[in-house]
Amino acid sequence: MVGPIVAGAWLYAAGQRAGSTQASHEGATRGPNRMVKTDDQWRRELTPEQYRVLRRKGTETPFSGRFWNTREAGTYLCAGCGQELFASATKFDAGCGWPSFWEAVDPAKVEFHPDDSHGMHRIEVLCSRCGGHLGHVFDDGPEPTGKRYCINSAGLEFRKADR
Ligand SMILES: [Zn+2]
Repeated sequence: MVGPIVAGAWLYAAGQRAGSTQASHEGATRGPNRMVKTDDQWRRELTPEQYRVLRRKGTETPFSGRFWNTREAGTYLCAGCGQELFASATKFDAGCGWPSFWEAVDPAKVEFHPDDSHGMHRIEVLCSRCGGHLGHVFDDGPEPTGKRYCINSAGLEFRKADR
């Protein structure tokens, strides 16, 4: 007897999603520090490029972002919620035009989702706090992890290390 109720709830939810106040909590929603905002809020608070990358899973043009070639010591934060994501000590030049890291500052700060779009099988990397799309992770990185986190500059902010 749950069929009609579930279908009704689904149709209701689908209708809500089609509206302009779509809640942007795609991806996992667990954790006490989870930041959930509506699509309208994100659109207001982020720059158009940040919004396109973080909330619409866009990809910036290679060699165009702020951080693909930076070497300063510091920490890279999520541009959506400010969570620390990557340390400059794990940044390396992958030659691909996007900032690349071989490890996140803490495995709990990132989440992974399979991404089969564009005819490829890739692993999407998201911020665990706001669910923002950061980029993808590949298995062709350097030691010690062998991972290459290929991240959009638009999804990041940089905080210089204290001296
Ligand atoms: Zn975030």
